[in-house]
Amino acid sequence: MAKRDYYEVLGVSKNAGKDEIKKAYRQMAIKYHPDKNPGDHTAEDKFKEAAEAYEVISDDNKRARYDQFGHAGMNGGSGGFGGGMTMDDIFSQFGDIFGGHFGGFGGFGGGRGGSRRVNKGSDLRVKVKLTLKEIANGVEKKIKVNKYVDCKVCSGTGAANGSAHSTCSTCRGSGYVNRVTNTLLGQMQTTSPCPTCNGDGKMITEKCTSCSGEGVVRDAEVISLKIPAGVAEGMQMSVSGKGNAARRGGINGDLLVLIEEEKHPELIRDGNDLIYSLYLSFPDATIGAPIEIPTVDGKVKIKIEPGTQPGKVLRLRGKGLPDVNGYGRGDLLVSINVWVPKKLSKEEKAIIEKLGKSNAFTPAPDAGDKNFFERMRGFFD
Ligand SMILES: [Zn+2]
Ligand SMILES: [Zn+2]
Repeated sequence: MAKRDYYEVLGVSKNAGKDEIKKAYRQMAIKYHPDKNPGDHTAEDKFKEAAEAYEVISDDNKRARYDQFGHAGMNGGSGGFGGGMTMDDIFSQFGDIFGGHFGGFGGFGGGRGGSRRVNKGSDLRVKVKLTLKEIANGVEKKIKVNKYVDCKVCSGTGAANGSAHSTCSTCRGSGYVNRVTNTLLGQMQTTSPCPTCNGDGKMITEKCTSCSGEGVVRDAEVISLKIPAGVAEGMQMSVSGKGNAARRGGINGDLLVLIEEEKHPELIRDGNDLIYSLYLSFPDATIGAPIEIPTVDGKVKIKIEPGTQPGKVLRLRGKGLPDVNGYGRGDLLVSINVWVPKKLSKEEKAIIEKLGKSNAFTPAPDAGDKNFFERMRGFFD
């Protein structure tokens, strides 16, 4: 399904400021809130769409990535990355939007089932260095990450073996406490996380000794990353749920993977194209020859035509890198130079001198490169 442009979803311009974005989202959230539109699936879809758009556009990093790569930058165009938002994610986002008081706003929330605050583990950042060959073909990388994982002894609950959770008496299990304040506009009800249970809604009667009741412990996890072909230095991908585990069985954070590119000894990357600078010997350029050149997948032979001039660029179609969004493949550009010998023996010098008197060694009248600028432009585009 084609996703709508996030700016369009929120009805703001591409250079909208944070306050404008927040305001636009707040209006949409009120309009399409499920409590106001019970059973209306179109409203629910719009509610989710707006939440997703806001999630991205309100975050500087995600917004920059979205501006650069569009929706493809959000999920990497391949399995394993990204993932939609759940209703819990959306309601936890409301903390920012409605100033931490879900309940007191416009009469909805508060008693909404399932909107109890959920613990969220923090995101983790890792860097992954890839060779051009790995980038060309896509690669599965196994990386070891030190992070918080669910405590195995208590299965992440934080409670000692067999001991029960009791419902928090302060908030009676809701995780929230309501407070009524008098304002100029009348009585206002605000809701905040319960201070007794930290919003968990329940208390542990006996703490797990292995994790001191936190439900998480430090450990190393080997994570398999499926990296799609065509990624580039500086791209960031998120693997949802592979970050730090949340205390006492909440939602895991995400693993953010920053792509780094290892320099190839011979090939230079220019977008999806690759450039190779080839030096021909004078005889090969003159007489023509089969020449081996490097590609990301090993050497290939190309044919050098007789009379090949330095400065010529050969374009090997499709021998570059695949586009990360699946739009075809770049080319390999072979920029040709001719090696002029610097040291000659007496005999060699005599032969060259003799050849130099031949007409063949006089530059042709049309040798001046009239297309120089066009060619250079073609080279860099
Ligand atoms: Zn434990
Ligand atoms: Zn409580």
